[in-house]
Amino acid sequence: PSEEYELSRRRIFSNTKELWYYVNSELQSLVKEDDSVRVEHISKIKNIIGEHYRSLLKDVSSLADVDGHAVWRQQESENLSNLVQKRLKHLQNPLDCAKARKLVCDLNKGCGYGCQLHHVVYCFIVAYATERTLILRSKGWRYSKGGWQDVFLPLSDTCLLPNGETTNRWPGHRNTQVITLPIIDSINPRPPFLPLALPEDLAPRLNALHGDPVVWWIGQFLKYMLRPQPATSIKLDEYAKKVKFQKPIVGVHIRRTDKVGTEAAFHKLDEYMVHVEQYYKYKELTDKVDKKRVYLATDEPKLFSEAKRKYPEYEIVGDEDISKTASISKRYSDQSLNGIITDIHFLSLSDYLVCTFSSQVCRVAYEVMNSLHPDASTLYTSLDDIYYYGGQKRRLHVAVLPHKANGPHEMNLLVGDEIAVAGNHWDGYSKGTNLRTKERGLYPTFKVSPKIETAPFASYPDVTL
Ligand code: GDP
Repeated sequence: PSEEYELSRRRIFSNTKELWYYVNSELQSLVKEDDSVRVEHISKIKNIIGEHYRSLLKDVSSLADVDGHAVWRQQESENLSNLVQKRLKHLQNPLDCAKARKLVCDLNKGCGYGCQLHHVVYCFIVAYATERTLILRSKGWRYSKGGWQDVFLPLSDTCLLPNGETTNRWPGHRNTQVITLPIIDSINPRPPFLPLALPEDLAPRLNALHGDPVVWWIGQFLKYMLRPQPATSIKLDEYAKKVKFQKPIVGVHIRRTDKVGTEAAFHKLDEYMVHVEQYYKYKELTDKVDKKRVYLATDEPKLFSEAKRKYPEYEIVGDEDISKTASISKRYSDQSLNGIITDIHFLSLSDYLVCTFSSQVCRVAYEVMNSLHPDASTLYTSLDDIYYYGGQKRRLHVAVLPHKANGPHEMNLLVGDEIAVAGNHWDGYSKGTNLRTKERGLYPTFKVSPKIETAPFASYPDVTL
């Protein structure tokens, strides 16, 4: 299929969702009135529109598979992944480590596991873009004193030491042998290849392949980084058996404790389960579902009994003990490291994810999920943020339909306007800043399309498939 076909197909899919968000939210606001006849009528309309909605989504998504398109997508994704993995292997295993140009990063960013993985991905992207071997200093890691190699394969088979003739802090010079990198929050100057930028040489293919190509791109770095040590693999396999992990299954991540009220709002279990229910109704249009399963990952152990009590028709898969070591008071130990590796692994293996993208735990799971499918960009619901990368430059939309503001909260759009996106309100509208007019406000999401940005990365002409 052409890029044009793929973009149109994905646009119909996402705008079917936008239409549903709009209607659902408007009808919901009408239900608040206390006229019982009317409330019943509206609820009936909602159910019927819900059926229309799922049927339309199903039909559009079938266009992704017709005429050999699914085969093409699978093959293209494998080819691209093999190419990127080969480049990373080449980068990380220089012929002569003593002479290799290096980029040095410390694993100990003072934050949680998801945040630290994102820190390493950022370092790895800079290393890839500047063609420097990434040296990760991880001894004394807050999650496991022995460091990265306690659980994952080292990033190199041959080159792990930060030594060199000359060392300098970022940005250094091209011929400085060793450059040390600060965290993304304080990198200066900011290079053009930080997320959400894609490498110029791969961008056209990635844009045809994937609904949110930068997620695929980031997933490739995680794929390389998270190659498990044999002992880690064994633990994951044993756990899968113990909890009887099987499909269909929806991964639900509920982040509570220290996050709530500071970095994210509180969401009730029911808010997550509405979307789980939607997923299974959608699935049942074409498949027989023997058992509805949820993989529950959370730092609030009480949610296991709440879920089992309130949703008896579901099988709640997961481990309350993992959740106990994940709660705020027990967070940083080998035990909690095993727990978070396990939870992210099984969330990423689920058929669909329901979570809050304000949490790096779920964003990592979603990124890893996207390294396991040609395009998993539609297999999630976030109750709050759209996908973002901490420290990213911006996410862009471009207007494809004009819009005249309906009131002071909305912005005007001319076709071609670029908007820096702040978020989706999941009611048919997004919020952002129009880069032409500097207006900040709401606009109907169906009137824009995503726009990708590219940057010059090293292009590894000698590494081919
Ligand atoms: P964020 O704070 O949610 O954005 O994500 P971080 O990963 O940076 O920090 C949260 C930390 O809390 C995680 O790294 C875990 O140590 C712990 N945690 C949060 N949610 C879960 C969960 O569902 N399962 C497990 N095992 N740990 C969790």
